[in-house]
Amino acid sequence: MTGILTKYDVVIGLEVHAQLSTNTKIFCGCSAASGSEPNSNICPVCLGHPGTLPVLNKKALEYAVLMGIATQSTINQYSTFARKNYFYPDLPKGYQISQFDLPVCENGFLEISSGHGETKTVRIKRIHLEEDAGKSIHDRGNSTLIDVNRCGVPLIEIVTEPDFSSAFEATDYLMKIRQIVRYLGICDGNMEEGSLRCDANVSLKIKGEERLGTKTELKNMNSFKNVEKAINYEIERQFEILEEGGSISQQTLLWNPDKNEAYPMRSKEDSHDYRYFPDPDLIPVTISNEMLSEIRSMLPELPGAKIKKFTEIYLLPEYDSSVLTQEREIAEFFEEVCKQTLAFKEVSNWMMTEVLKILNEKKITISEFNITPQNFAGLINEIKSGSISGKIAKDVFADMLETGKDAASIIDSKNLKQISDPALIEPVVKSLFDANKQKVNELLEGKEKIFGFFVGQVMKSTSGKANPALVNELIKKELENRKNE
Ligand SMILES: [Zn+2]
Repeated sequence: MTGILTKYDVVIGLEVHAQLSTNTKIFCGCSAASGSEPNSNICPVCLGHPGTLPVLNKKALEYAVLMGIATQSTINQYSTFARKNYFYPDLPKGYQISQFDLPVCENGFLEISSGHGETKTVRIKRIHLEEDAGKSIHDRGNSTLIDVNRCGVPLIEIVTEPDFSSAFEATDYLMKIRQIVRYLGICDGNMEEGSLRCDANVSLKIKGEERLGTKTELKNMNSFKNVEKAINYEIERQFEILEEGGSISQQTLLWNPDKNEAYPMRSKEDSHDYRYFPDPDLIPVTISNEMLSEIRSMLPELPGAKIKKFTEIYLLPEYDSSVLTQEREIAEFFEEVCKQTLAFKEVSNWMMTEVLKILNEKKITISEFNITPQNFAGLINEIKSGSISGKIAKDVFADMLETGKDAASIIDSKNLKQISDPALIEPVVKSLFDANKQKVNELLEGKEKIFGFFVGQVMKSTSGKANPALVNELIKKELENRKNE
């Protein structure tokens, strides 16, 4: 890669399709849900039968505008739909309703990481609404099957300027887009199932030259890892061709994740090949000031702002902030907990380890988690006040998880309160010393490992309830006594 970078600039642009999680399709009342019996969620409108009229789903428009606001885009209060004409078996209408000249959002941007702790601003050229096409299923014997359920499912296409100069940057952008659509609740972001899809335009430009190289388009990269791999593969492939004196042909390449290779799919059409023209069945989309401010008021606090708040208000390290803001619900749970305790870092530690582990293991979301923010704060407060030790806290946590009860009542009913009264621990230490004279001598001779033995024994005979710091202190004190005997 270094050889490439001394001679060429890598130029990458991304087109991301996000399936909007509306109940119904973009221009008809059919269910937009996936996973139904093939060819069951269809009607004359989404199949484009003659004489039918599409009507825009207001929710889809709202979602597109939300995404525009979240990416600092200009919202066009007047936009239009166009027909993109092409033939494909899974597009029975022969055209896709999309937006061309006047998309609903334009000129946005997003901050991404370019690696090594630096940030970079990526320009978003446009976000437009369109309908999805159906699916061709090739893996059932010798024939190809068509499922048109997906025809008319609403999409937004988010198109960037060619601002990325590495696969790393492109992947980081895609992760941020996924995080934002999930925060907004407008798309589930599932790349494997195709509700978030990413195409990449890749070209190499000789350093110092104005003219861009010929670009190829990569498709079928259904995970972050594949996006990164495919782009790097394509950069190397183009480099090799150019170095051998060849030229790049403008084409679409399909990524094959099993073979880690990309294959040409078809030669790429220019936009004029699609014969875009205004859709005569759809009136222009207008967004009133009132509607715009209503949508604006629906905007939640976004990941960037949350991270800032987590580091500045809750004083968490950068790492904690980025982990806890990964998902909106997790971030909100954290904030809910922190309304009832000031031990922010303690909450963060517990959430990043114990809570996230449980969610992962059980494959559940935080909304299905058996401990409420209030009870969780209660547990943290019990630890902070010294009422229970960190070790006992783990048991209480497990109990809370199972029963849904609060920490205080579990500590009470199981008599788990930490013993912090020296008068209760001192006799235990003394009798332990008496019973293990040999070990005491070894300890006095400097065998420090023996110290752990005594701590362990005191903890054992107090069922783990003794305050560990106090136990340490009392053992040292008793040791001094014996030394002077
Ligand atoms: Zn329909």
